[in-house]
Amino acid sequence: MMKVEKGVLLSDVSLKPYSYWKIGGNAERFYWPHNLQDLSQFLKQVPANDPITFIGLGSNILVMDAGVEGTVILTQGALKEMTVIDDNKLRVEAGVACAQVARFAARHNRVDGEFFCGIPGTMGGALFMNAGAFGGETWQRVIEVETIDRTGVIRKRPASEFSPHYRHTDGLKEDEWFVAATLQFEIGDGALSLEKIKALLEKRAQTQPTGQPSCGSTFRNPPGNFAAKLIEASGLKGTQIGGLQVSEKHANFLVNVGNASSQDVLDLMALVHNTVLEKFGIDLIPEVKIIGKR
Ligand SMILES: Cc1cc2nc3c(=O)[nH]c(=O)nc-3n(C[C@H](O)[C@H](O)[C@H](O)COP(=O)(O)OP(=O)(O)OC[C@H]3O[C@@H](n4cnc5c(N)ncnc54)[C@H](O)[C@@H]3O)c2cc1C
Repeated sequence: MMKVEKGVLLSDVSLKPYSYWKIGGNAERFYWPHNLQDLSQFLKQVPANDPITFIGLGSNILVMDAGVEGTVILTQGALKEMTVIDDNKLRVEAGVACAQVARFAARHNRVDGEFFCGIPGTMGGALFMNAGAFGGETWQRVIEVETIDRTGVIRKRPASEFSPHYRHTDGLKEDEWFVAATLQFEIGDGALSLEKIKALLEKRAQTQPTGQPSCGSTFRNPPGNFAAKLIEASGLKGTQIGGLQVSEKHANFLVNVGNASSQDVLDLMALVHNTVLEKFGIDLIPEVKIIGKR
């Protein structure tokens, strides 16, 4: 039997560098797999009651300062294969950055995946969140996914077994995670697609505080409205609790302006939520996922 190269297993690892917000405590155990085969073997020996948390690029998570129990598995830079399957299909592993998918598709003259450049996360995170940008959404392109369970078994599941919604996806079972997706694109002019990507990113930089640590949009847009518009109209731009501030550039972005704690985030989110509820009667739902001990 071929020997599988092993990843890196560490104890008590700070998750701050793995969170876009640069906030959070330690993972009890932290595993960075070598590849998919290694992840499968690793999972086989994780004790049955040990909690497991997958993270990608950490662009949509709040890690609590008290840390995360059990094993955190980092997919970025680990599940990193991306291949052309046939004329219009790509297989993308869960740790590949969405921006890479957009560029890879364009370079292979597959188009209509440009929107992926606006999502600063991995394919796994994008599948979980049904991430979307510039009018496109992740699951519009998915025809099949591969998942793994806590015993290390990998399964192929058709997209029809999942129900994607606005910024969340139903269909994963308990203790099941995404490890790859087969995406379908149109065949077209790759050079034009690369130009579109450049233009979209320039537009993005003008409207979002992309240089400051945040988790992007903190709240989902309510039906027929925009969370940023409601937060701004509530007079909250610039409001600060501890090290966290409602961005002056985009009011749905809460930016870490100086060593914010996870409690600062919860407090500012509660203030924003309650103020918008009081002023407009709209109950904003968080988009960000909270991981770790409260
Ligand atoms: C500046 C900025 C701009 C953003 N703009 C957008 C935007 O335009 N549109 C948009 O939709 N989002 C946007 N986001 C949010 C974020 O990029 C997306 O939600 C993205 O899909 C998260 O991917 P990730 O790999 O970083 O996931 P993480 O933040 O690491 O994880 C997010 C959630 O997914 C779960 N998860 C991660 N990997 C897997 C896996 N392999 N299997 C199962 N579950 C998994 C995690 O447990 C967690 O619950 C933005 C964020 C930032 C910081």
